[in-house]
Amino acid sequence: MLRLPVTRYLSALVQSTATHTATGRLYCSTAKVCWSCSKPLVKKDKFFCGSCGTLQRVEDVDYFKLLDVSNRFDVDSSALTSNFRRLQSMLHPDKFSRRSNEEKANSLEWSSLVNKAYKTLNTPLTRGRYILKRNGVQISEENTSVDPEFLMDMMDKNEAVEEASNYDDLDEIGQTLKAEIDELYEKLNDSFLENDLEQAKENLIRLKYLLNIEAVVKEKLLKYKV
Ligand SMILES: [Zn+2]
Repeated sequence: MLRLPVTRYLSALVQSTATHTATGRLYCSTAKVCWSCSKPLVKKDKFFCGSCGTLQRVEDVDYFKLLDVSNRFDVDSSALTSNFRRLQSMLHPDKFSRRSNEEKANSLEWSSLVNKAYKTLNTPLTRGRYILKRNGVQISEENTSVDPEFLMDMMDKNEAVEEASNYDDLDEIGQTLKAEIDELYEKLNDSFLENDLEQAKENLIRLKYLLNIEAVVKEKLLKYKV
């Protein structure tokens, strides 16, 4: 018979539960250990074991921490980009082609996480959303919190873009939009600095509207330029 006798099955079950509990206790009372050599990990190195040098497993890291920049909306973008490049070259799967399968898998996961974090933090809209989300504020797709006056203004703008039939008119609309977007960035920054997350949320929703219209203007401008 292939099936395990019930008693053996039960004892295996009990044993595995006991092991888990023991590991759990160990984990709680001591620092994290390396998956490869079981030595304690140094906290300041997120990626490698200080003893054996193996690449550690991916864990849920705050994007700002991962990319080693201050957690703020007006992020230091040159530090963001240079840290991103440094991490990407350090964690790139090519660097692990002679390492174990576990490390190869870890490097793939770290690389994609670093990419995702950089993409999120490098764009003001997604960066703002990320900060809100980490603080428990979600932006729903139905933007009910935008005031009607603003929505009317957006409709007028859309109409103006649609009706514009030459390069100069479109260019002028584009310039005005850019000024409004820049102003909104300032406001957003202020609301994040003041930790007024509701205001930040509203400004982010407005920003999305303006950026959408700006994208249409840019696309249309390309046609007129040819
Ligand atoms: Zn190790």
